[in-house]
Amino acid sequence: MSIAELQTLIRDVPDFPKPGILFKDITPLLAQPRGMHACTVALSKVVHASGAEELVGIESRGFIFASAVAAVEEMPLQLVRKPGKLPYEKVGIDYDLEYGSDRVEMHSDAIVAGRRYAIVDDLLATGGTAAATASLIEGQGGIIACAAFVIELSALPGRECLGDRPVHALISY
Ligand code: AMP
Repeated sequence: MSIAELQTLIRDVPDFPKPGILFKDITPLLAQPRGMHACTVALSKVVHASGAEELVGIESRGFIFASAVAAVEEMPLQLVRKPGKLPYEKVGIDYDLEYGSDRVEMHSDAIVAGRRYAIVDDLLATGGTAAATASLIEGQGGIIACAAFVIELSALPGRECLGDRPVHALISY
């Protein structure tokens, strides 16, 4: 399945979760196994080429894609979660996002200094979530091999927000 075909599996939902937001709904992609397979293969190639040793999936839709890549590439997966979800000792960082502000947390033993990490999420919008995740990883001595997304909203400053870190998106709007 081509990237153009993959794009037909992303549904636009206007005014969700707030008026003025055009929500990119990935559920049709999840319901189409050939699409999900193509998406996983494409993301896996990006992650493999980056030289990443481990994956970092961002809650919650990022978990879906990061898990699929982790299984295909046989790579360890670390989780970035919303506050209060992780059971063990945590490190966290506050950030602004497209609709509101939030905080992300990881387990304090998830990142090994000097190791290379690929951040995976469904969508890059303002870049706030991914940049906060990158800072959290780097603050513990981890190296960002790449940040990989299924979708990028190119009118928003996601890439700028991530600075010099390598950014890849399969579909750009
Ligand atoms: P941001 O921090 O602004 O880059 O937002 C990224 C996160 O918010 C991603 O995890 C997305 O799941 C979600 N998100 C932001 N904007 C949208 C959108 N227009 N459609 C779907 N998800 C979005």
